[in-house]
Amino acid sequence: MVSRQPAEALVLEERETPRPGSGEILIRVSACGVCRTDLHVVDGDLPRVGPVIPGHEIVGVVEEVGPGVEGLAPGMRVGVPWLGHTCGHCPYCRGARENLCDDPLFTGYTRDGGYASHAIADARFCFPLGPGEDAALAPLLCAGLIGWRSLRMAGEGRAIGIYGFGAAAHIITQVARWQGRDIFAFTRPGDLAAQAFARAQGAVWAGGSDEAPPEALDAAIIFAPVGALVPIALQVVKKGGRVVCGGIHMSDIPSFPYRLLWEERQLVSIANLTREDARAFLDIAPRAGVVTQVTRYPLERANEALADLREGRLTGAAVLIP
Ligand SMILES: [Zn+2]
Ligand SMILES: [Zn+2]
Repeated sequence: MVSRQPAEALVLEERETPRPGSGEILIRVSACGVCRTDLHVVDGDLPRVGPVIPGHEIVGVVEEVGPGVEGLAPGMRVGVPWLGHTCGHCPYCRGARENLCDDPLFTGYTRDGGYASHAIADARFCFPLGPGEDAALAPLLCAGLIGWRSLRMAGEGRAIGIYGFGAAAHIITQVARWQGRDIFAFTRPGDLAAQAFARAQGAVWAGGSDEAPPEALDAAIIFAPVGALVPIALQVVKKGGRVVCGGIHMSDIPSFPYRLLWEERQLVSIANLTREDARAFLDIAPRAGVVTQVTRYPLERANEALADLREGRLTGAAVLIP
């Protein structure tokens, strides 16, 4: 399913199965999650060049291995995340911050992704997966990973707010509970179904983003792409608290009085992931007993899945099955 032009529906195309080059593998896709970033790619919120096959939460089986690939063999199940390639020599790569690489490739954005029967991936950015069903594992590869990086960035505090209770939030709430923390979930005002879903995942409190939580929070994570939530979140964190923006794109942040940031509150963003994040989180998810809630769509119905995500009709994560 190809995004030919920004802001146009995806189109089903028949293509030759690609062959892996040096250091690459060919994967037969068994499931690919639908992430909010896919919406930003397809809708044209992110700058792009030319057509692309979206999808960066790929679960599949190695079908063919290119020259020079080590540690992967045909028949192995792997996961492919958003970070699809890094240069290996820029200051960020050398400084263990490859998420900020100067010359990266992103799966389903600057290289073709998993809304397809097959995908080519850089073998160094593929990860063996633990037990579980293909579709249930797919959301771990971005919602889980970016959620995990956001949660780590939120610090060690106990009381954590989450704005936007979608795929990432439902995974990371389970991890935070396992760590002994308390999650306070904020949804669109009046979205009682999302609030009930948040409580079912282990949130100790759930309410609208226009409501005050029952106590001041140590940190807050914003997954919703809504800049107006930034000053709102700054108001509910304690002195020294941190607000983490977990998305790749957000509407403009309205101006706000300096007193909301004062007292050493911090406002930070998360960009991409490192392979270390992937290894750490894929190890933690089964130990934390993470259970994802997914809605399956046949691959040809990718446009429907994207529309359901855009309109907030999903509970949990959408996953495409080729
Ligand atoms: Zn680099
Ligand atoms: Zn994503």
